[in-house]
Amino acid sequence: MTSTTVSHAAGLVAALLFILSLAGLSQHRTSRAGVGYGIAGMALALVATIVVAAKSISAGAVALILIAMAIGSVVGRWRARRVDMTQMPELIAVLHSFVGLAAVLIGWNSYLEVERYGAAQMVIAHDLLGIHHAEVFIGIFIGAVTFTGSIVAFLKLSARINSKPLMLPGKNALNLGALAAFVVLTVWFIVGPNLGLMIAVTVLALALGWHLVASIGGGDMPVVVSMLNSYSGWAAAAAGFLLDNNLLIITGALVGSSGAYLSYIMCRAMNRSFISVIAGGFGIEAPSGGDEEEGEHREIRAQEAAELLTQARSVVITPGYGMAVAQAQHPVAELTRRLRERGVEVRFGVHPVAGRLPGHMNVLLAEAKVPYDIVLEMDEINDDLADTSVVLVIGANDTVNPAAAQDPGSPIAGMPVLRVWEAEQVIVFKRSMASGYAGVQNPLFFRENSSMLFGDAKESVEQVLQALSADEREAASAAQFTAAAA
Ligand code: NDP
Repeated sequence: MTSTTVSHAAGLVAALLFILSLAGLSQHRTSRAGVGYGIAGMALALVATIVVAAKSISAGAVALILIAMAIGSVVGRWRARRVDMTQMPELIAVLHSFVGLAAVLIGWNSYLEVERYGAAQMVIAHDLLGIHHAEVFIGIFIGAVTFTGSIVAFLKLSARINSKPLMLPGKNALNLGALAAFVVLTVWFIVGPNLGLMIAVTVLALALGWHLVASIGGGDMPVVVSMLNSYSGWAAAAAGFLLDNNLLIITGALVGSSGAYLSYIMCRAMNRSFISVIAGGFGIEAPSGGDEEEGEHREIRAQEAAELLTQARSVVITPGYGMAVAQAQHPVAELTRRLRERGVEVRFGVHPVAGRLPGHMNVLLAEAKVPYDIVLEMDEINDDLADTSVVLVIGANDTVNPAAAQDPGSPIAGMPVLRVWEAEQVIVFKRSMASGYAGVQNPLFFRENSSMLFGDAKESVEQVLQALSADEREAASAAQFTAAAA
């Protein structure tokens, strides 16, 4: 067997492992196995690529590859261990930017090699030279859009820049114009490749990537993250064509198509137009409504909240990003246990984009050992909210904002939300009147049946627990007193 046959066989096995990995990752219970398949597939792919490459490159070059891999592994492991769950989307955005940058560098390298050594020496048939030029251009374009788009996503997700959409005049015309310019430049490059056109397409795509993501508002960021995931896949596939690497093409296509499908599912869940979001908020006009306060809010203390809870028949807890920041899931789980012991029906309502990545809340609640069967999806719980005594909104904001359902001018208009305001009483656990990630004020806070319990969510829930304990102690000593008197 030649090394090429072995490499093809290894590539095929790695591709199958990647498919198994995606299948495993689609369900909570099998996700660990999914990660395992992915690691195995990637290890196999790397070894096969290096073994084949080692035949045609110098020992020094192989050593360089190994050193680069060792440095990359150490840095990757160090970052992955340190990153908080709430920072995961930022990390993913940065990693996507690396894929984009790699595709740009591969495109440039491929062009410069042909320039330097000529097509014949690069084993590119003359008839296929036009196709090679198109591959270079498309690879650079997708890579550069992914690179700057991911950097803007990182800056927005880490709150280093404002998450509000950038509204340049004629923004849709700018995006369409950039796409038209790309088509013209590609044709021009195929006919007469030159360095000026390479620079032009790189600058154009970098600017387009920046503008596309900057134009998308905070509320739509979940879709942006998965869309950039898809772009990074297509960028890798384009690099695979340039490097003549089938495995990279397959892997890129898997990432590209699964990312696109995930974006589509998320758009449907959030009632957003897929085309509008991937085209940088195409067709969306400047939204109205900001983060200014809209009335009087009422405050509640932990003691009063505990009293309301002990009298409640049913309680629904809707967690959000603030629960993750405060790491309040353990006291929340304890509160759930204590209320259920007292005979109160407690359930959780989880919004599909609560937190900063899909499934964020489910993972936290599972970690705190909240039983799966009381954790319900938004659609499963929404109709029961009107018949609920108390809703505890723990660090959630945009996902419980009535403006999404009732104000067509709101930046989050049309996004399905948990209709918590229909419950008898709503207690909102947060630190201030600040707006959520989408940057819009929440009319829920000013409703008559809402009260604000200000403070860090973990501390507030612990105070409610203490108040419950005090109440239990009082009840126990009263019972003892009555028994003694009898
Ligand atoms: P939001 O970002 O709307 O609100 C979170 C709230 O938590 C804030 O208003 C904040 O208020 C409060 N908070 C922060 N820290 C604490 C703390 N320590 N204790 C108590 N409260 C705290 O969160 P949601 O989960 O409701 O909505 C998610 C938002 O993020 C949506 O806009 C969504 O589109 C977006 N998003 C979601 C992604 C996903 O895939 N799930 C990815 C990227 C973005 P205060 O500062 O006053 O305490």
